[in-house]
Amino acid sequence: MTKLEEQLQKRSDNKCELCQSGDALKVYEVPPGPTSDADDSILICDTCRAQIDKKAELDSKHWRFLSDTMWSEVPGMQVVSWRMLNRLKQESWAMESLDMMYLSDETLAWAKSTGDHDNDDAVDLHKDSNGTVLQSGDTVVLTKSLDVKGTTLNAKLGTVVKNIRLVENNTEQIEGKIEGQVIVILTKYVRKQTV
Ligand SMILES: [Zn+2]
Repeated sequence: MTKLEEQLQKRSDNKCELCQSGDALKVYEVPPGPTSDADDSILICDTCRAQIDKKAELDSKHWRFLSDTMWSEVPGMQVVSWRMLNRLKQESWAMESLDMMYLSDETLAWAKSTGDHDNDDAVDLHKDSNGTVLQSGDTVVLTKSLDVKGTTLNAKLGTVVKNIRLVENNTEQIEGKIEGQVIVILTKYVRKQTV
C-alpha cells in the first residue's frame, strides 16, 4: 500500500469519499494529475469511478450526494463534485447546488482544465446498431456485408465475430478477427450476440 493510499483510507474511514460505499475502493488522482498530494486525490468506489470515466451511463440518482460533497474542504473533492454537477446540470437539484457552490479561482481553473464538465451526456460507450452497449470480448454479428478494401475478405451479412476489442477514443469502431485477419468494424454495422 502506498503512503497516499494509507492517508486516504484514514481520511475516508475506508469508505468511498463520494457515495460512502465500502466496495472496491481505489485512489482516484483527480485529473490532470498525477499527484501524490492527498488534497488532490480521493478514494472512490468502482461505481463512482466508472461514471466519472464515462465507462457507464450517468445515473443521476446515484449522485444526489454531490449536494453534500461539494462542501468538502478537500480540493480534489470540490473539483470532482463541480465537474459531476456540471455534467448533471439538466437536473434542477444539480443546477441549484452549482449556483450555491463556491470554488477559489485556483480550484475553479483546475476543475475546468480537463473539459470534462462540458460533456453533459456524451458518455463514452460503444453501442451496436440497436443501442446495446458493447464490451471487449463480446461476440457480434455483422448486420451488413463489409467490403474490406485491398483484401479478398469475405465479411458477409450474418458473419459472427467473436472476442471483439473496443477501439479506444472512438466509440464508432471495434476490432474483430474475420478469417484470421483483424479488421476495424463500425459499430453501426454489428449486433451484439447474446447467449
Ligand atoms: Zn462511490
